[in-house]
Amino acid sequence: MPQKYAAGNWKMNGLVSDLTDVLEIDAGVEGLTCKTIICLPATLIYAADGDPRQTVEIGGQYCHPAISGAHTGDVSAEMLAEAGATYVITGHSERRTDHGETDADVRAQTEAAWRAGLTAILCIGETLAQREAGETLAVLTDQLKGSLPEGATPENTIIAYEPVWAIGTGKVATPDQVAEVHDALRAQAGADMSLLYGGSVKAANAAELFALTNVDGALVGGASLKAADFVPIAQALAAS
Ligand code: PEP
Repeated sequence: MPQKYAAGNWKMNGLVSDLTDVLEIDAGVEGLTCKTIICLPATLIYAADGDPRQTVEIGGQYCHPAISGAHTGDVSAEMLAEAGATYVITGHSERRTDHGETDADVRAQTEAAWRAGLTAILCIGETLAQREAGETLAVLTDQLKGSLPEGATPENTIIAYEPVWAIGTGKVATPDQVAEVHDALRAQAGADMSLLYGGSVKAANAAELFALTNVDGALVGGASLKAADFVPIAQALAAS
């Protein structure tokens, strides 16, 4: 059975003073049967590591493929791991768009994550134009083939389906749209790989998404910043 995950992505939000929200989330998810991860800006990971958390695990949002070197402004998987991360997002569409990251880049980042002992949360997703052209499944199959390295296991990789048009827009994919994609991903990725949905997940729409057979959790942006928004999503997952 795939592991269930409630994963949050704080994107470029949060100062050290906001880490009280991670502690509130930690208290709120204690005892739930799903795993809970918060992917923080790199600057907050070390500080969060010193906090007395019981349940929530910490992730980064990106890693460079190299261990170290002349890459100004970048962060390596080893640096994230040393700071206290156990997960890292690779291939988020905002990175693919803002930084021109290709499938080959995402593959190299995912290999770097594994090298450092991190579990990669590998994101794929189609644009609205691709969906409207009827290309969704073909695009996602290609993205996964191009960005998922050989050697992926349910322990070192989580796959997140995040339609680009649903991220931060308030437009959540319908259960039928999510089911079609996740059923196809299950066939491609195997029975035990965790498959998360991401794109405007909120407490109000979480339960119907988690009721789908091949949805094993969510990657949540905006609604992960506050415990009052995120804990009910994790509770809905644990109850599913
Ligand atoms: C995300 O950042 O991966 C995401 C899905 O964002 P949001 O939940 O805000 O749409």
